[in-house]
Amino acid sequence: MKSWGFNKGLYDLGADCYAWIQPDGTWGFRNSGLITDSNESLLVDTLYDLPKTQEMLDGYRKVIPSANNIGTLVNTHSNGDHYFGNQLVHAPRIISSRTCAEEMAKRPPSNRAKQLRDWRELGDAGVFINENLSGKFDLENIDLVLPNEVFEKMLTIHVGRKTVELHNVGPAHTGGDTLAWLPKEKVVYTGDIIFSNAHPIVWDGPVSNWIKACDQMISWGAEIVVPGHGPICDLDAVRATKHYLEYLTLNTRKRFDAQMTEDEAVSDMCFDEYRHWLDPERVVVNVHCLYREFKGIKGAPDSLEMSAKMLHYRNKLKSANLYPISSCGHENCNGQH
Ligand SMILES: [Zn+2]
Repeated sequence: MKSWGFNKGLYDLGADCYAWIQPDGTWGFRNSGLITDSNESLLVDTLYDLPKTQEMLDGYRKVIPSANNIGTLVNTHSNGDHYFGNQLVHAPRIISSRTCAEEMAKRPPSNRAKQLRDWRELGDAGVFINENLSGKFDLENIDLVLPNEVFEKMLTIHVGRKTVELHNVGPAHTGGDTLAWLPKEKVVYTGDIIFSNAHPIVWDGPVSNWIKACDQMISWGAEIVVPGHGPICDLDAVRATKHYLEYLTLNTRKRFDAQMTEDEAVSDMCFDEYRHWLDPERVVVNVHCLYREFKGIKGAPDSLEMSAKMLHYRNKLKSANLYPISSCGHENCNGQH
């Protein structure tokens, strides 16, 4: 496997495909992609706030002239770290899956900004939000800019002579999750279907859809995988994600059938294989979503309730010295140094 390194900034993937990478890939620190051909360009996702999005656009524009005129913006899914920067792109076409666009409309940046501003009023959920985002992102005064074109399952678009296939593999991470796949170049931009070297987080599920998405990328024979978060990778990371989700499903089911509570199930499971992956607190959300799935409950859980649960589990791991250190060696470091 080729090692791409893991530094902040622009990566040239070859064949006029690029990525903008933000270590260390934890909460909110995510990647974007740029595909160009014949003076046309397509951007895959924006970043969590306007300064970071502007820095990313400037970084692309310094070396790629067509990035000055981005014709198409694709939002892979409805987490703010993938679309709060949309207003700076001025793309004539903004595309997402229909479900993603519907979810985005219900999640304006002002809601998140208020949570961060008033975190003390939100109990332990507020503490978790503040710990993850405060001092790292400026979420104030961001406009909600929504897609103007939606698709259901699949849409083929062209960037110059390049073909880009958009595949909605959700609901999985969220209600609608798009993979941007270039069959000729064998590059896939995965959104948050892949977190490389970090625990994925299942907000919507079913998990089986997520496993199918991994199988789809494996069957395509993707050679370069640009994850939503973490270093550029290849199909090994896709296989690792699939294995994690299968392991999680099997072991959660056993404990569900044994009538354990969710907390008991989390404590009883062994995650030693994933000790070096960031954000292990996501395990509690993943187990919760699987319990909901086994009970036949549809849709995403309450995110504040989940945030409080994640804080408790994170603190438990920290006090047992089991919380992973980020790739630069600084605990909870945002990699911006
Ligand atoms: Zn993300």
